[in-house]
Amino acid sequence: MLLDLKPLFAGSRDFLSVDFEMDLSEFEFLGVKPFHAPVAINGKIVSRAGIVESQLSCKAQYFGFCDRCLKETVLDYATDINRTIVISLENEESEENDDIAVVPDMQLDLEDFCYADIVMNLPTKVLCKDDCRGICPDCGCDLNLKQCNCGGTEVDPRLAALAELLKD
Ligand SMILES: [Zn+2]
Ligand SMILES: [Zn+2]
Repeated sequence: MLLDLKPLFAGSRDFLSVDFEMDLSEFEFLGVKPFHAPVAINGKIVSRAGIVESQLSCKAQYFGFCDRCLKETVLDYATDINRTIVISLENEESEENDDIAVVPDMQLDLEDFCYADIVMNLPTKVLCKDDCRGICPDCGCDLNLKQCNCGGTEVDPRLAALAELLKD
């Protein structure tokens, strides 16, 4: 989806509204496709004192599996997309700046523009609840549902080896 930024660069408009949905249902991260439902992008592209920048927010439902208990989990995902947009870079220095998007023809591909920010800001952890107790590493039971009997009675093999070393 192309947005014509000419009115902003020409100074005839102060801002352009943005409100669209992105289909990221085929996007895959760590073997999971987290965006089952469309990702909503809205906000505006503004021109202030000759500087064009995005003020967009992205909201979606993020589907994953709890890092601790592996239960299916849906998180509220949100990220802001605030970047400067220029027609051309003035010096090499700014070429290394990821916050600057270059649109030589003043046509902004909104999907491409937002995609990078979304991918860069994926949740670093997925928890079904903050205090998820996870699953028992020995018997695999869900410790949120019940306390298993195997913990505590079995000696950790690493501790047993350490005890052996300390004996002398
Ligand atoms: Zn969990
Ligand atoms: Zn157990």
